[in-house]
Amino acid sequence: MATAPTAVRALRSAGVFEITWPDGVVALYPFKFLRCECPCAGCVNEFTGERILDPATVPADIAPTAVEMSGNYALKIVWSDNHYTGLYTWDRLDALRSAPEVTS
Ligand SMILES: [Zn+2]
Repeated sequence: MATAPTAVRALRSAGVFEITWPDGVVALYPFKFLRCECPCAGCVNEFTGERILDPATVPADIAPTAVEMSGNYALKIVWSDNHYTGLYTWDRLDALRSAPEVTS
């Protein structure tokens, strides 16, 4: 299990989530990238892991309208396209640090 970040901020002008991890690394996750990585059953086939969501249907200016902690293991993000069923666990966000879209 990944340890919870020490800070999570939505930087709207830059269009990224800034997540500070306990190892001191600050990782920047673009909003659209994270929206496309939504792990909910409507976006990913939970049996095959296949992506159902077509990234072309996600607006380029997608942004979070609300962000809250779900327990102490995940981030719940409400997106401006009214999608809110995805839970971004610390494990998943930690794994996404190695994605080419994520910078630090
Ligand atoms: Zn989803």
